[in-house]
Amino acid sequence: MVLGALVYVHVPRFTIHDSPFTVLLGAHTSTNGGVSSSLPRAAAIGATAMQIFTKTPNQWREPAIGAEERQAFVEGVRGSKLVATNAHDSYLINLASPDPVLWTRSLISFTSELRRCEALQLNALVSHPGNFMDDRASGIARNAAAITLALEAVPGDTRLLMEMTAGSGTSIGSTFEEMALLIGALPAALQPRVGVCVDTAHLFAAGYDLANAYDDVWLRFGDVLGFERLGMLHLNDSKVPLGSHRDRHELIGEGAIGAGAFRRIMTDPRLAGLPKVIETPKGDDPDASDRRMLALLRRFARG
Ligand SMILES: [Zn+2]
Ligand SMILES: [Zn+2]
Repeated sequence: MVLGALVYVHVPRFTIHDSPFTVLLGAHTSTNGGVSSSLPRAAAIGATAMQIFTKTPNQWREPAIGAEERQAFVEGVRGSKLVATNAHDSYLINLASPDPVLWTRSLISFTSELRRCEALQLNALVSHPGNFMDDRASGIARNAAAITLALEAVPGDTRLLMEMTAGSGTSIGSTFEEMALLIGALPAALQPRVGVCVDTAHLFAAGYDLANAYDDVWLRFGDVLGFERLGMLHLNDSKVPLGSHRDRHELIGEGAIGAGAFRRIMTDPRLAGLPKVIETPKGDDPDASDRRMLALLRRFARG
C-alpha cells in the first residue's frame, strides 16, 4: 500500500509532529537578527522544512551561538510545524583546495558549521563539494580527507548532505558518478552519516534534463548513488539552459526547467519523504514570493 510505504520513508529520518503524511516543504529562511529569528519567518510561510545559514555565509568570522539563543531556537523548533531543519554552509569553504592555507581555514570553518548544527539540533548540514583547482582526483581526495576529519571531530546526529553542483570551473560534484566517488572515498564507518542534496537548478545546469528526460535522470541517480543516499531536495528553476554549467536560480515554473518537472517531483513516491526547500529569488517581498512558490508546489503535490 502506498500510504504504508510513505510512513516507512518518513519515520527513520525525522520526528513527526503532525501527520506522517506532512509534505516537508519550506524555504531557505533568513536568520538576520539571530538564528531564532528564522522561526516566525518560517511560520509566516507555513513551512514544515527550513534551511538557514548559521553565520554570514560570505565571511570567515565564526560567531558562537550563545546558550540563550540556542535554547530559543531548539525550543522554538519544537513548538513549530517544522519537521526538517538544515543549515547550508559558508560559500568561502573549499575543502578540495590545493592551497594548504585555504584548505586548513576551510576545514576549521566547516568543523564550526557542523558544531553549530549539532548545537542547534539541525537534521542536516548541506555543503558544496569544493573546487579542485589543479587536478580532479587530488581534489576529491582532499575533499574526502577534510570531511573525514570534520565528522570525526564532531560526532553526532546531524547528517552531512553534499550538494550536487552545476559544474562551473573546477567544481567537484556535478555528476552522480563523481559524487559517488567522493562519498566512496570516506571511511566506511562515516558513510552512513553522509548523503546527497539534489538542487534541481544545479542538476539541470550540469546537463541532467529533468524537463525532458525526468525518468532517465532519476533512474541513473538510483543506479549510481541509490535513493537511500538522497537526503533532501533544493527546488529551484533555472535561469540558464540545460548543460550551461552556471548556477542561476529562477522562480518555479518560470525558468528553463518549467512546471512539468516540479509537478513530477511533488508527486514522485521516491521523493515523498524528503525535505524540499526552495532557494528561489525572493524579490522585494520575501514572504510573499516564498508563499506564492510554496502554494504552487503544494498544489502540484495534490496532483
Ligand atoms: Zn547550495
Ligand atoms: Zn541549492
